[in-house]
Amino acid sequence: MELELTETQSLIQKTTREFVDRAILPVAAELDRSERFPKEILAELAKLGLMGVNLPVSLGGAEAGVVAYSLAMMEVARGCASTAVTMAVTNMVGEVIAKFGTEEQRSRYVPRLTSGEYVAGSFALSEPEAGSDPGGMRTTARQDGDSWVIDGQKQWITSGSHAGVFVVWARTGDVAAGTKAISCFLVEGGTPGLKVGKKEDKMGLRASDTVSLTFEGVRVPASALLGQLNGGFKIAMMALDGGRIGIASQALGIAGAALDEAVAYAKDRKQFGQPISAFQGIQWPLADSKTELDAARLLTLRAAWLKESGQPFSKEAAMAKVYASEAAGRVVDRCLQVHGGYGFVKEFPVERHYRDVRVTRIYEGTSEIQRVVIARSVLR
Ligand SMILES: Cc1cc2nc3c(=O)[nH]c(=O)nc-3n(C[C@H](O)[C@H](O)[C@H](O)COP(=O)(O)OP(=O)(O)OC[C@H]3O[C@@H](n4cnc5c(N)ncnc54)[C@H](O)[C@@H]3O)c2cc1C
Repeated sequence: MELELTETQSLIQKTTREFVDRAILPVAAELDRSERFPKEILAELAKLGLMGVNLPVSLGGAEAGVVAYSLAMMEVARGCASTAVTMAVTNMVGEVIAKFGTEEQRSRYVPRLTSGEYVAGSFALSEPEAGSDPGGMRTTARQDGDSWVIDGQKQWITSGSHAGVFVVWARTGDVAAGTKAISCFLVEGGTPGLKVGKKEDKMGLRASDTVSLTFEGVRVPASALLGQLNGGFKIAMMALDGGRIGIASQALGIAGAALDEAVAYAKDRKQFGQPISAFQGIQWPLADSKTELDAARLLTLRAAWLKESGQPFSKEAAMAKVYASEAAGRVVDRCLQVHGGYGFVKEFPVERHYRDVRVTRIYEGTSEIQRVVIARSVLR
């Protein structure tokens, strides 16, 4: 067993860390306050190879693997969770196209995502009536001559106002066929009939873009079908397995930042004539937080390593995601408490971390759905 990072992994971690310290941390609070989509930061991330960490160099990626991707995601989330989720979804979209796309689809879209020509990619699975159960989706795609025509609604789509390409799931057969009649399509931003709805007014991740989408007779060529006809549901599930490693890493990055800040604050803040770090009531939550984050990190890096080495990782990714997101929630809550009243105001970043971390228990499969995935495997 080897727990050391490779040279490439250390280099990606260090490069990302330096970039986050220099270019993201100084603006993170302002991005949150102004809800400004971080276009210029995303362009810089693309230049660093971070929009395709696990994608081949031939497609513009860094070809550094899944562990490196997880480490980079932790670093970016340490700086700005909104930037991190945008990066996560773009990496996921690039990977889906690289894995399931034809040569033409791969060469058309992936280099545009990795290079930053497309500021982001979007993953359009959820619908107003189909979240945890995407098999219940209502969006349809019907064949019309040489085209597909897509009609329906998608909900909660990250980067939906900015994406150059959307991976979109739609029903291509009878409702009775359930998940066996769902296909996946690539739709370019700006395609006629694709309408972007209002931006969600979110509790956290306020600089990320989350919108609804309406598809009104959106016509795409036959070549827009990604993977097999009626084989789209499997693509979604496989993509989400990998995506969960990204969200676990995001949760770790946010909570790691909160813990560093709480430690520094506890050493600095004095009450009863001594730093509050001298009180056992402050020390123990910090100790518990460090322990839980380390455990979450090991689960997450194991899932990343399994994916990278081509082994099954679905259960491990779900375990990493549920544990890391829930541990991160506990850690950020304790870190806010360490700040006392100052944790409750926007002057200290822990207030933002508290809001940002909450969604990691919800998207890319809620905690309950991760437990369904894990239990299915345990009871098999
Ligand atoms: C900020 C943000 C960004 C997002 N980005 C994207 C995106 O880019 N693309 C995309 O496709 N989606 C995206 N989502 C959607 C996200 O994945 C869904 O919100 C999530 O899957 C839950 O679906 P839902 O909100 O419809 O909740 P529901 O599915 O309605 O769930 C409600 C509650 O019921 C529970 N529940 C449901 N089924 C079960 C069950 N079988 N057993 C036990 N409990 C259950 C859930 O865990 C939850 O607690 C995003 C969401 C948010 C908030």
